[in-house]
Amino acid sequence: MATAAAEKPALFPIRKRTGTAAYHLSKEAVDFGFEELERMTKRQVVTFVAEMRWGSAKEMPCPHCGTFDEHYFRPLEDRWKCKGCGKTFSVTSGTVFADRKLPLVKILKVAFSWANGASGKPALQLRRDWNVSYPTVFTLLHKLREGLLRGFNTGILCGVQEMDGMDVNGRRYKEKRNRPQAGGRTGEPKIPAHLLKPEPSPPEFVGPPDPPKHAKKAKQPADRRLLIVMRQRSVSSGKGAVATRIAIALSESAATVTAVATRFASAESVVLSDEDPSYAGFSKYFAMHKTINHSKGYALPDGTNNNQAESFNWRMRRGVEGIYLSASNKYLKDYAAEQAWREDTRRLSTSKKLRHLLHAALSVGMSLWWRGYSHGAHRGEELLVEGPMAARGRGRKAGAKPKPPR
Ligand SMILES: [Zn+2]
Repeated sequence: MATAAAEKPALFPIRKRTGTAAYHLSKEAVDFGFEELERMTKRQVVTFVAEMRWGSAKEMPCPHCGTFDEHYFRPLEDRWKCKGCGKTFSVTSGTVFADRKLPLVKILKVAFSWANGASGKPALQLRRDWNVSYPTVFTLLHKLREGLLRGFNTGILCGVQEMDGMDVNGRRYKEKRNRPQAGGRTGEPKIPAHLLKPEPSPPEFVGPPDPPKHAKKAKQPADRRLLIVMRQRSVSSGKGAVATRIAIALSESAATVTAVATRFASAESVVLSDEDPSYAGFSKYFAMHKTINHSKGYALPDGTNNNQAESFNWRMRRGVEGIYLSASNKYLKDYAAEQAWREDTRRLSTSKKLRHLLHAALSVGMSLWWRGYSHGAHRGEELLVEGPMAARGRGRKAGAKPKPPR
């Protein structure tokens, strides 16, 4: 009987769960939830955040004078008094959360909820979940993104790097949306002519015209933005990429891709890219440069592929189309930094993810871009590879009065 059961053929081949899918269903993926967070006392929350910021809740540098000591803790205020300068400070003094109005535990809850989303969580949803105003949650999320952009999207990578550029906003992006990429349909069997429906002659209306081919040198629309990504492959096979760096550019020209590559990859690196002529000079800067022709396939027979970079592009696209919905060009780099962080921490447990996020957000000092946002102090520029560019806000102009109702 046992042998007969063993020989019974499977009805369909069961796909082996590998990589991140197996991880997400494992025990280790979830080690902390809202119940645990809810159970933490006010003091435990302060200790938790202090450990993320300074690595200790006992000894820390004073944010005012820098004295490193076991400062006097004032339990009623949850603040420390500096042994050097005598000033007091809290666990968020001198960080992006300085002068916060929300209680620390609420910040932690919103941040935890946000960190758990696979490609993000909309600010409006968090607003409904946590009963906070939209501007509060919007600036809070952007402060977290600022921490990731300034504290995480930095540093030189060394190893095998995959690079790619993608249209992420603007007219060119809308034209390409939902269209198959070149190479995706090669090798399809041809349908014999006698089986095809006769073409109506002459075709009067055949839908919207195909987008024109855009030469690089042609004038590009002003709202065009490209996401340039660099991802370092893991040294162990099957683990995907381990580190991601992003940049936003106006074009995927040789100057911009070279600027990004030399900023983020060491000269000893091996860089992989597609056959775009912009990457042609890379063998000058790096130990090796390999290319993949996407019209021939997604991976060459020797295994050369650019799929880690492409996989990040898809995550970013899911974020833009499913979470942000109408991301402004001005904050595109902030959103991309968020997606890079989500991609890189995809195999961290829930508690480690929260710790990682807080550590990045609390390590960049005061917010440069979001302090006084509700009072009209907005970042005036877009952060591009070509250099900062003055950006127009979307809201009402400062001092403009709303139109009277008719
Ligand atoms: Zn001090």
